[in-house]
Order: sequence, then structure tokens, then C-alpha cells
Amino acid sequence: MKKFLVIANWKMNLDLNSSFKLAKKIKANKSLTKKAELVLCPTFISLERVGQVLKNTKISLGAQDVFWRDAGSFTGEVSAPMLKKIGCRYAILGHSERRQYLGETDEIVNKKLKNVLANNLTPIVCVGENKKERKSGKHIQVIKKQLSAGFKNIPAPGWSALGRKTKNQKIIIAYEPIWAIGTGVAINSSEAAKMHGIIRKYLEKKYGTSLVKNNFIITYGGSVDKNNILEFTKEAEIEGVLVGGASQKWQSFRDLIKKID
Ligand code: PEP
Repeated sequence: MKKFLVIANWKMNLDLNSSFKLAKKIKANKSLTKKAELVLCPTFISLERVGQVLKNTKISLGAQDVFWRDAGSFTGEVSAPMLKKIGCRYAILGHSERRQYLGETDEIVNKKLKNVLANNLTPIVCVGENKKERKSGKHIQVIKKQLSAGFKNIPAPGWSALGRKTKNQKIIIAYEPIWAIGTGVAINSSEAAKMHGIIRKYLEKKYGTSLVKNNFIITYGGSVDKNNILEFTKEAEIEGVLVGGASQKWQSFRDLIKKID
């Protein structure tokens, strides 16, 4: 059986030294990788050092963002080939905090997704509704729009048109209701599973059942911690979690993963 995926998003927390120390602790505790497939996403400046720690381990390295071109005059940006060179395998795209504070749109997510796939990194595409959209019952519509724009012109079988050999390419969709991120109030797990089912159906319609089964992983994110993780692991629709706050301290991260069976 596939291991449950746990993506640790350290956001703009943990400086170089703290990232290094936390990565070393996680690496040293071998029982964690028996429980889950781990991806650590530190800040850009810590990626290389954390990557060194994770070398020859089962733990993967991920970036919190990436630009949509390989190189050029794009001040302040970092490209997928650069990330790959330091051992990065994953990149988060369209996190709600980037959408909120940096004006990242579905169109930008789409450009980044194309580039990431062409460079053979695994994208973690974030989608999610805000509180108002949820309250007014528009959440499903919002998610479908984000998927439709984010995956525009990424035709079935998806990424071959982008110059990739297709078979092992994975795409992760992180369903993250914005109102649950960093609030301490997670979504009800059965409601999350329902949303995952809707996302899966949408993708199946576009790409076909077997491609979605083999190449897509749908994860949940939003205030996951040691107290609620089991609620999410028991839902068949939920294949992993994206964890912010609880992944940034050794004890809370260890306790969360130890609960997974
Ligand atoms: C996130 O960073 O996407 C996230 C889910 O954060 P938190 O776990 O703190 O809600």
C-alpha cells in the first residue's frame, strides 16, 4: 500500500540554522519514514543545506514556490532547473498565502505548472475556498474554477505535450480551505473527503480514471496536528496532508507522524 504523504511547509519560519537542526532531527528519527512519505519545504535560503541533510535518505526536498521560466532577467526569482540541481523534487504552486499577499493568480499557477512539469519536478498545486465562498455555498464552483484555469492547456495525458516522458510524473493537488489554514480549526474530515471526491471526479473527467489513479495524489491542508491527523488518515479519499504550523517544531511534527498507522 502507498504510504501516507506528509508535506511540511515551513513557510517564512525557521532560519538557516533552525531549518538545518530540524531536518537533522527528522532524519535521525528513522521511525518517521516508516510511518509516512515525507517532504520538507524550507525557505529558499535553507533548501541547499537541508538538501545536504536529506541526501541518501527517503525524505524529499520541496520548494515553497518556483518561477515559470528556466532562466533570465527575473529579479528575485528562482527556477525549476536551479531547484533540481540542489536536489529538490517538489514545488508548491499557488499556496493561498501567495495568492493573498503576492497576487498569484490561477493564470500564474498554470504557467508555473507547465514549467514544473517540463522540468520533471512534482508540483503541489494548492486550491481552496475562503470563508465567504464556503458560507455562500460557492466553494465547489471556486475549486473547479481554480482547477480549470490552473490546468488549462495541460491536455491528457497531461504532460507529454510539454516534452515529458509521462509515466512516472506525479501531480499533487492540495485541497486547502483558506479558512482552515493557520486557524487551529480544521475542516471536518468527512467534508474534506467529499471535496477530494469532487476534485477527483473533475480530474477524471479531464484526464481519465486510470491516469488520475496512477499520477495524481490528493492531499488535505489546514490546521492538521497530532489531535486530528487520524481523522484524515482514515478517509480513503485523503492520500496525504500538507502541514504548516505543526511541522515547524520537532515535537509537534514527531507527535503528528507517530499517530499515523
Ligand atoms: C499550510 O501551510 O498550507 C497549512 C496548511 O498551514 P497550517 O497547517 O498551519 O494550517
